This record gives sequence, structure tokens and C-alpha cells, in this order.
Amino acid sequence: MAYKFVDNYREKGARKQLVQLLKTRGISDQNVLNAIAKVPRHFFFDETFWNQAYKDIAFPIGDGQTISQPYTVAYQSELLHVKKGDKVLEIGTGSGYQTCILLELGAQVYTIERQENLYNRTIQVLPYMGYKPHFFCGDGSKGIEQHAPYDKIIVTAGAPFVPEIMLKQLKIGGIFVIPVGDEKEQKMVTIIRVGENDFDRIELDTFRFVPLVGDQAW
Ligand code: SAM
Repeated sequence: MAYKFVDNYREKGARKQLVQLLKTRGISDQNVLNAIAKVPRHFFFDETFWNQAYKDIAFPIGDGQTISQPYTVAYQSELLHVKKGDKVLEIGTGSGYQTCILLELGAQVYTIERQENLYNRTIQVLPYMGYKPHFFCGDGSKGIEQHAPYDKIIVTAGAPFVPEIMLKQLKIGGIFVIPVGDEKEQKMVTIIRVGENDFDRIELDTFRFVPLVGDQAW
């Protein structure tokens, strides 16, 4: 395989600086910060753009999609309160960076991507890096029923509404994190399933995601 995976002091130092920056921006969960310090984000970039990998910015990964901004990844990860062994469903694998963060947090990850090119890349790159989630290719706006229920669900693309079908795939006590809004901006929504038919919903900060496209989406 032609991947060039070099992780030297320069990249490790840049990751440390990124962690410091995320702290100043309000990320305080030490497990999340440790995961950010561990996952080599430059591996998800073409070598020409390695100098962009530890800036706190989203970046194009091809097929009209982006690797999420580190702050956004840290913010969503913090909201999930991942515990070791949690079964986590991730909608929108993209580059696979968020997937690696979830795995570093000790989750068993079920991740789905609708774009075949991105899926084909992550099924090679992540195992090569030593990360082994359960990969799926298809429309994740309906969740993945056959592996439900999940302790946590994270959606990494902007949805027009909260898909009901996914709420039913959450365990009681489970947490669902999803950006909801229009094409321009979305509010980060956290939903906790407190009972069979009871859900607590909190709306948080505003973000800008690429759209969630599918049956229960745009
Ligand atoms: N967290 C990812 C990362 O760090 O690379 C970023 C993902 S990107 C912002 C959102 C991804 O969701 C895109 O790769 C897009 O193709 C995917 N997506 C959009 N709608 C989807 C759907 N219905 N099912 C699965 N993936 C979807």
C-alpha cells in the first residue's frame, strides 16, 4: 500500500499545540484531549497539505466532503461521554478521523458512510493505522437497525430534523448527538433517552456541517 505514515517530533509537537488550543477554546474532557493528542490527523491528508493538518480547521477530503474541524470533533466527542466498551454508532465516516477518536476513547464503533470512494479509502487506511471499527457503506440517515441498540449515536453531517428511526436505536440512558438546522448552519442537539418513550433534548452551539443526505435527511 502506498500510504506514507511518518509521525515524527514535528507532528507530535503540532498535536500538543493543537491540544493546548482546544483547551483554550473550552474543551476540558481529558480523555478527549488525550485522544486528540494520540491520533495522527496528518495521515488523513495528502502529504502536500500536512502543514494544514494541525490547524483548527475543516479541510477538503475529496468528493465534496471535509474532515471536520478538530474543535468540532472534540466538542461532539465530549458530548457523547464515551465510556470504555460503549457501542457507538457514527453516521458519516468521512475521513475516519472522528472514528479513530471514538476508538481511542474505548468505544466499539459502528460507522457508516454513503460515499463509496470515502468508504473504500477508510476500510484500507484505518486498519493499516491499527484502528478497527465495523465499517458500513450506505444511507446512515436510518441508522443501522440490525446492530441496535447503541449506547451512543453521533451524526457528523447536518440534518434537517432528528430522524425518529434513530431515536429508537438508542438504549435507555443512551446519548444522541446530531447537528440540526438548514443548509447554512445547524445547532448541535443532544438527546438523552430517559425512558421507553421519553427523551430529553438540549440545543447547544451553532456549527456548519456538510449536509446529511438520505431517506431521513436532505
Ligand atoms: N467526522 C468526519 C471526519 O472527521 O472526517 C467528517 C465527516 S463529513 C463532515 C460528513 C460525512 O457524512 C461525509 O463524508 C458525507 O459523505 C457523509 N454522509 C452524508 N450523509 C450521509 C448518510 N445519509 N449516511 C452516511 N454518511 C453520510
